[in-house]
Amino acid sequence: NWQLFEEASPVLEKIEEAGFEAYFVGGSVRDYLLKRPIDDVDIATSALPEEIKEIFHKTIDVGIEHGTVLVRWQGESYEITTFRTESEYEDFRHPNEVTFVRSLQDDLKRRDFTMNAIAMDRKGNIIDPYNGQRDIQNEIITTVGCAKERFSEDALRMMRAARFVSQLGFQLQEATYQSLEKYTPLLKHIAVERKLNEFEKLLDGPFKHRGLQLIVQTGLYRFLPGLLYEKEALQTLITFECTKMTNIQMWMILTDRLQVEEPTSFLKNWRLPTKKIKYILNGISLLEKRKKESWKPFDLYEYGLSLVLDVENIYSITFGKKNEKGKLLTWNDELPLKSRKDLAITGNDLLNWSRMNGGPWVKEWIEAIEKAIISGEVKNEKESIREWLKSCKRM
Ligand code: ATP
Ligand code: MG
Repeated sequence: NWQLFEEASPVLEKIEEAGFEAYFVGGSVRDYLLKRPIDDVDIATSALPEEIKEIFHKTIDVGIEHGTVLVRWQGESYEITTFRTESEYEDFRHPNEVTFVRSLQDDLKRRDFTMNAIAMDRKGNIIDPYNGQRDIQNEIITTVGCAKERFSEDALRMMRAARFVSQLGFQLQEATYQSLEKYTPLLKHIAVERKLNEFEKLLDGPFKHRGLQLIVQTGLYRFLPGLLYEKEALQTLITFECTKMTNIQMWMILTDRLQVEEPTSFLKNWRLPTKKIKYILNGISLLEKRKKESWKPFDLYEYGLSLVLDVENIYSITFGKKNEKGKLLTWNDELPLKSRKDLAITGNDLLNWSRMNGGPWVKEWIEAIEKAIISGEVKNEKESIREWLKSCKRM
């Protein structure tokens, strides 16, 4: 875990040699202290963006107005952000202006939770003015400073609290919880994209039932797209073994349980990508089918292994049935046909053999042939298929 910091250490050293301060901050330091895996390190510095660009050859302006410069160093990219304070929040979201400051203390002060307001220098010394380490130890999420102020400055922090509950299994500190409960309506000022970003992380987390519980208990759900009247659906959701369900499975079961008439617009209102929406909707209709009948090998051919396994997992969890994953995997391995492009014949063969004009029948026959191959009635070979068609008097 220390390795990423070690690799980045020369970057901090170069900034220091130029006469500035530089520290690791935020999520990477928190996760390091928690002994959780880290995929990138965030760096904060007293140097201004322009000064960072003078120190390093290869830089990319990724968010210069927020003070962030991307530095390329030995094949890696590092986000380096100038110490800043955010003043005069308007309508509970974006700060009116970002002010660059030269002091680390001021930068840590603007951060959301104590566990996220810890800095570490390149030698591993910890700077922790808000007792973030103690809160990590006690598994508690506490705002930096007055919770009321911090949530009304930026209401997204309430969603962030819920997603950290889901990721870490921590509890909210008393005053933080109470302010959150009180300020939930401020969430309506936050853009859906930002809510979605945190909600997706919540649905990925190992303690997602706790994250969802917090959303229900505090009333945050009332300010999330399409959930205002869905308290019951959410409560039911929490009673399932959410831990065993993936993000996409959670979306399927959530959408399936809602009272909404139009699942498509519910998902669209969340601004989910079209591809993901399609997959979720396919899952919901396959779940309906699964409720009525058991799996057949052809389902794997028709819907694909991934969707079938997603639906089977939801079905087994919500109906308390044994998961048939093992059988489905074996079936899938043994499928004599994996996809239509592997079919030994084409529509053209059918036209030639039958000497009939094209029409919807071609597609119907192709489907009948696929079914026969999957069920083992006929081999996926041109001649066998032709013989089979004759024997069915289809030719
Ligand atoms: P993750 O591991 O998911 O990236 P993270 O804590 O790094 O978690 P980011 O969204 O990457 O979360 O933010 C990086 C840091 O910036 C946080 O640790 C926190 O110090 C600060 N931060 C992010 N969003 C806010 C916010 N809305 N208000 C105050 N500080 C914030
Ligand atoms: Mg991060």
